[in-house]
Amino acid sequence: MSVISLTCIECPIGCALEVEMENGNPVSVKGNGCPRGKLYAENEVVCPKRVVTSTVRAKNGVMVPVKTDRPVKKSEIFEIMKKINQTTCELPVKIGDVLVENISDEANLVVAGNA
Ligand code: SF4
Repeated sequence: MSVISLTCIECPIGCALEVEMENGNPVSVKGNGCPRGKLYAENEVVCPKRVVTSTVRAKNGVMVPVKTDRPVKKSEIFEIMKKINQTTCELPVKIGDVLVENISDEANLVVAGNA
């Protein structure tokens, strides 16, 4: 049995979590202030995921804030950033517009803010 210490990033409280591991699998989570922390910890020790945020250059040169619409595997972020850097768009766009469908198996790339 081993213990992994994490800080929950699901809300600003940042609970200190301890995950007991057995044979590479989480068997218990302590320190979470709510159920989201338990789920976060269980996912983080097996397959960590993050929402990717960046910008895409519109054809007129304006930078458009973008993000993945779901968390993606951390191991895929480098490839996703390469695709984002090759992406352009035409204005106008609005928050939530899909710029790249299925930028990963799990997510689309969407507009995240006003250009
Ligand atoms: S466990 Fe719950 S209360 Fe604690 S940081 Fe995570 S989301 Fe916030």
